Amino acid sequence: MVWIVWKQSDVEGAACRLLKLIRWSQCVQDTVIERAELCRDEGQLVLTARVRPAKHRRSRCSRCGRRCPGYDNGGGLRVWRGLDLGPVRVFLQGQAPRVACPVHGVVVAEMPWARPGARFTRAFDEEIAWLTAHMPASTVAEYLSSTWRAVIGAVFRVTTELAGRTDRLTGLRRIGIDEISYRKGQRYILRVVDHDTGRQVWAGEGANQTTLRAFFTALGSERAAKLTHVTSDGAEWIHDVVKEKAKKAKLCMDPFHVVQWATKAVDAVRRRVQGDLTRAGRPEQAKSLKGSRWALLKNLLELSSDQKATLAGIQRDNKLLYRAYLLKEQLRYVFAAATPSTAKSLLGGWLAWVKRSRIPEFTAVAESVTRMRDLIWNSLDTGLSNALSEATNNHLRLLTRRAYGYHSAEALIAMSELTLGGLCPPLPGRA
Ligand SMILES: [Zn+2]
Repeated sequence: MVWIVWKQSDVEGAACRLLKLIRWSQCVQDTVIERAELCRDEGQLVLTARVRPAKHRRSRCSRCGRRCPGYDNGGGLRVWRGLDLGPVRVFLQGQAPRVACPVHGVVVAEMPWARPGARFTRAFDEEIAWLTAHMPASTVAEYLSSTWRAVIGAVFRVTTELAGRTDRLTGLRRIGIDEISYRKGQRYILRVVDHDTGRQVWAGEGANQTTLRAFFTALGSERAAKLTHVTSDGAEWIHDVVKEKAKKAKLCMDPFHVVQWATKAVDAVRRRVQGDLTRAGRPEQAKSLKGSRWALLKNLLELSSDQKATLAGIQRDNKLLYRAYLLKEQLRYVFAAATPSTAKSLLGGWLAWVKRSRIPEFTAVAESVTRMRDLIWNSLDTGLSNALSEATNNHLRLLTRRAYGYHSAEALIAMSELTLGGLCPPLPGRA
């Protein structure tokens, strides 16, 4: 049931001023609001505003903005959700005609109030993106009575547009190449981080040479030649591409990943000891080890008092596992050393300790460390911080969990660009 109708033809007076107020509240530009009506729809107050592009924005290609001959009227009237006015839900309604662009062919005409293909206005997209950068996407979806998928769609449109406008690849010197997995480790995205700003500068689907080459194509040979250091997790395929595309860059082994090898080794030792105990008919002890996983993997300083007690128990009852734990913690200290020369000598000591301790899981780590020694030293010499990478990885693990429901690389890339790549827009009207 329609309650109130305002028309632009009531040129004089309140109606006209009210349409102006609606236009301001929706943060739309180059848009004429012809009329608006308020109604109640299943208990929800709904304001529908009829819009058209301002004269100088009419009949333009939505891809390039060029003025083009009209093609047809598209599918008739469409609606876009706009910014809520308190409890009032707002929709813009208008035609979406198609134009014939000489370059892009038959495409939908530009709508100054919405991004191509969107069912939300530009301002609503941006509000969603800003909120998603500051709270879980599921909370945003609930707050705006929208869906997870629609929220991610808005984030994707905003970050894609901002990435096209922002040059994040100029001036790069020291970069980190990292992969994160999703879908239970079956799929990957590759991210490139600027070590000097801490910001993600590029992200792409897949973790292979094709993905990495796409980054170097975007970077271009001139800028690639200026790279001085490239850190990574030590994967050969990354080294091959970097050696080919950035010949002058020093390859560095990201210390965070070296510590991660040791962390995985501790976990492997725990599982082995647990299996031995079960087979030896001591299931109770085996079970208690299962609960000790986090006590063993976390940093010593981050342990809760319960976890410290668990660790003390392991020290008493399980010398082998405790030694593995100490080896892991010691390796962490190596990379926290104040100077590169201290770190290098500590690393030498660590390798000798591993040799004496004869724990096969750690012998394998020591072999990798020895093989990658030059790359690890390059990292130590430049002091490229593992703390940064570690914090970023924790953040991404959280994002992965959030993006998990969506199961797509596109979602994860959009979320990482939003929160780590500096591609978060200001709130509508606050620019
Ligand atoms: Zn065009």
